[in-house]
Amino acid sequence: MNGSGKTLSFLVVEDNPADRRLIEVALNDLDYAAESRCLIASVDTLADAIAHLKASDTLPDVVIQDLHLPDAVGMEALEAVRKDTGNAPVIVLTGLDDSAVATEALARGASDYLEKRDLAARTLWRAIRYAMEHKKKELQLRRLANSDPLTGILNRRAFFDRLRLEIAHTSRSDMHCGVLVFDIDKFKQINDLYGHETGDTLLVEIARRVGGQLRETDALGRIGGDEFAVIAPNIRDADGALEVARKIVDAVDGIGVVNGQNINPVVSVGIAIYPSDHSTADMLISHADLAMYKSKNTSRRIHYYDERMDHDAKARHRTKARMREDIAAGRFGFDYQPIVDARTGAIVAAEALARWRGNETVSPSEFIPLAESAGWINDLSFGLFDELCTHLHELTAGGLPRVPIAFNLSSLQYRDAAFASRLVAAIHAASIDPGLLNVEVTESTVIEDIDMAVRTLGALRTCGIGVHLDDFGTGYSSLSILKVLPLDALKIDRTFVADVCINAGSRQIVEAVASLARNMELSTVAEGVETQEQADLLRDVGIDHLQGYFFSRPLAFDEFRTLLGASCGQDRAANNGLSVVNGHARSRRAS
Ligand code: C2E
Ligand code: CA
Ligand code: CA
Repeated sequence: MNGSGKTLSFLVVEDNPADRRLIEVALNDLDYAAESRCLIASVDTLADAIAHLKASDTLPDVVIQDLHLPDAVGMEALEAVRKDTGNAPVIVLTGLDDSAVATEALARGASDYLEKRDLAARTLWRAIRYAMEHKKKELQLRRLANSDPLTGILNRRAFFDRLRLEIAHTSRSDMHCGVLVFDIDKFKQINDLYGHETGDTLLVEIARRVGGQLRETDALGRIGGDEFAVIAPNIRDADGALEVARKIVDAVDGIGVVNGQNINPVVSVGIAIYPSDHSTADMLISHADLAMYKSKNTSRRIHYYDERMDHDAKARHRTKARMREDIAAGRFGFDYQPIVDARTGAIVAAEALARWRGNETVSPSEFIPLAESAGWINDLSFGLFDELCTHLHELTAGGLPRVPIAFNLSSLQYRDAAFASRLVAAIHAASIDPGLLNVEVTESTVIEDIDMAVRTLGALRTCGIGVHLDDFGTGYSSLSILKVLPLDALKIDRTFVADVCINAGSRQIVEAVASLARNMELSTVAEGVETQEQADLLRDVGIDHLQGYFFSRPLAFDEFRTLLGASCGQDRAANNGLSVVNGHARSRRAS
């Protein structure tokens, strides 16, 4: 009847031969051992116990241990044994009425205790079953507490615990430990577009694939919504971490289809190295994080942390703090850059460009993304918009030519379902003719959420606002989105304008855009025109409107008004060859 069940192995640490005998008899009692076959190893000193544990391939299922050994007594004996017993439950044997000792033993990790006078089969086996059950539950709980319920890999807390442990190990060796943080670009959009179930499946798949590529000693954790991290201990140098990063990139590249959807996730990886990149677990992760954000902002998908990133992050933090105050205090305003007719040189429109008053060294290319990430973009731009309305009224009241003014939209704004109606309400409240307004949206951000872009821009256009596609040619979808977007004009990016006179490729692009726009009844604007040569060439290939330092830099409102007024009524004014005509820069295409 034995034999049929599983084998249980015991380590008995007991120096008293009589007690040891009792234990062995009890363990072999068939009535209580039930189906189990018992393998018993008995030793009588702590030293022998440790030697036995170290020598055997597998750990015992249960340890039964006397707390009074020739070479160790009490808790010291317990702790010394527990260090080497892995997860095996330990049952300690105590003397008569030694309840204080028993309690302390339980507190220090013993699973159960037994008074020596109770060494009968029934009580011993009851303690064994209890200890094993208890241990199983404990391990289960620990696993649950340490793992991410969705992916089964380490959760954030457990990952940090593990990282601290690896840091301690590494500090005692001459190896390095790599910390890699990675996430999926635009994961939120994947969630929005394909549903959370697909998003979850993707996360599980990433954990599975990346996990499958790592070494046994590496650790993979999920430390945020879509943020994963890997600890790669025992690497010789930074190249070792780079190898791990490449494995991550390859693993994610292989995903492609999730739940039948063509997702093709793209991963960005940041690397920090211990001990070179500071000492604490928190710092390593935050440095790897900074490096990961660098990867997102450049075309390279893997970046190492370097000190400069820290400075950049601190500077950003300071800028943000000041920005919040200055938005509230209304210290942001618009400059206006004229846009001219390519043939006549007349001012036909202008672009409003945000400026940080008193902090002009920080350009909108820096502070707009900061405002976006801080969630202040609406506060900032509706404040600016109020000023724009005031300026438009001043221009109209002064009898100046009614030229439309364009302002730039952040991608967060046209993705915001409430934005269009809020803007339209602001326009009505200020009694502005919507025909005097154009919005500029950049091609690259529009394709991030084309459905929302179509909806928001469609609503704006319906109310009479012109829609211009900015930085055209730099995005990668170009032609397909032109069909679905409600547009009035294309703005050719200044990178093409910059070398249009010397680079045949740029010239061909400009020509292609001009003819494409003609076919689609869109008007064209070239930005960044800095020389007469560029202006002439652009005019000759059929670009309608030009903007750039050659005609005028962005001007403070008063200067802009003066320029507009000075050239008013003249067909061709002296200012840089600028003149002004009444009319719209827009709407060769019916709204
Ligand atoms: P953008 O919309 O492409 O604006 C044109 C940028 O080119 C402006 O830079 C302008 O000063 C500059 N520029 C104009 N003519 C020339 C030229 O001949 N040569 C050169 N090299 N540059 C020229 P700025 O004002 O620094 O604005 C940078 C970007 O910040 C803008 O790029 C736009 O994307 C964003 N931005 C500006 N104001 C706002 C705003 O109110 N809201 C939002 N969401 N974005 C804004
Ligand atoms: Ca623009
Ligand atoms: Ca532009």
